[in-house]
Amino acid sequence: MPAVVSFHYTLRDPSGRVLDTSMGAQAVTYLEGAGQIIDGLDEQLRGAAAGLKTRVVVPSAKAYGERDPEQVQPVKRSQLPVEGELTVGDQFKTGDDQFAPTVTVVSIDGDEVLLDANHPLAGVDLTFDVEVLSTREATPEELRHGHAHGADGACGH
Ligand SMILES: [Zn+2]
Repeated sequence: MPAVVSFHYTLRDPSGRVLDTSMGAQAVTYLEGAGQIIDGLDEQLRGAAAGLKTRVVVPSAKAYGERDPEQVQPVKRSQLPVEGELTVGDQFKTGDDQFAPTVTVVSIDGDEVLLDANHPLAGVDLTFDVEVLSTREATPEELRHGHAHGADGACGH
């Protein structure tokens, strides 16, 4: 039976820089094996017990994937949905859709802008310091929905 697990985490890149943390914010709650968190973390936390503090290293292939050089392409400045100044390193969504990819400006040469559509964490091995807060059996409803529900049984759907 898959479990529903709640945990806090701090995410670092290989240089030790903190990329993200849930500390001081809401813990993450997920249904095991349902794709709610990245695969490599899900796999390595399988069977974890409440109170466990552990460091999980997830290779990029099991996190946000490898970088794809073909995702780096030149576009015309005038075709970009960005008003005002554009600088190298800027990130923006390519559309209004919530699933529209985020691109990063690699270089600017006159009207030609080189954009990288790889996920900013593609090719990066991720280190998670995890503290498991609680685990419980998933309810039949959660299993049907394929995701964890809140402590009050609330479902976002
Ligand atoms: Zn649900």
